[in-house]
Amino acid sequence: MLVDQEKCIGCGVCVPYCPAAAISVVDEKASIDQEACLECGNCFRNDVVPCPTEAFYEKPGIYEEPRGIRRFFSDPTTTHSVTKVPGRGTEEVKTNDVTGRICRGEIGVAVELGRPCLGTSMTEFEKMTTALAAIGVVFEEANPLTQLLIDKKKGIIDPKYKNEKLVSAIVEFSAPIERLTKIMETIKEAAKSLDTVFSLDLICCFEADGTLPVLPVLQNMGIKPRVNSKVNLGLGRPYKIIRQPQEV
Ligand code: SF4
Ligand code: SF4
Repeated sequence: MLVDQEKCIGCGVCVPYCPAAAISVVDEKASIDQEACLECGNCFRNDVVPCPTEAFYEKPGIYEEPRGIRRFFSDPTTTHSVTKVPGRGTEEVKTNDVTGRICRGEIGVAVELGRPCLGTSMTEFEKMTTALAAIGVVFEEANPLTQLLIDKKKGIIDPKYKNEKLVSAIVEFSAPIERLTKIMETIKEAAKSLDTVFSLDLICCFEADGTLPVLPVLQNMGIKPRVNSKVNLGLGRPYKIIRQPQEV
């Protein structure tokens, strides 16, 4: 993002709205640290940041690679160029009751780095993807972060994106439920070297008797999850609940 120096009157209204603390006012003119800017678009939306002169404007080439990924992953009003899905560009496993991505006997895992509030970088993502790839995780193809991996088997991110920063993105995959303990241990270990925050979603189907198979596994590990349900009423039932377990 850029500030039109002719329009800016140096009022400072915009400064506290930037999640990356990238805006500063010097000599009564605002400017943006381009390295820190996540291209989230907050300052550009006048109904969010009431800049009296509407001085913010989009940098030419803002949607082009590699910098374009900042915009797609950080601004929910954009549509991701790879998946054609708005925002971070993934339908996520949260919509499992419609998509049926995760079947009985499987666990869906979503590790969201950068939220709440801190933001993150592709370097941090690679710490998580390489650790998970090393135990045989197969990343979700319909997730835009997966598309940035130059080596999916090793979890290596394409070097051209390495310097990019973003509000958040999600490492997403599914695996047989028996692998949950190993997966959790790997995430815990990788988290020690992360320079950001993350949230972890585990998704599974109810068994026919109404139990959640993930709970005993987590209890054994001393983890107390907050059980949540997202049901898209009226959008239909899963097209599949049971399939042959994946070979992972
Ligand atoms: S686009 Fe977002 S990160 Fe960049 S300066 Fe504006 S508010 Fe800050
Ligand atoms: S709100 Fe607008 S006019 Fe005020 S400092 Fe920021 S860019 Fe300049």
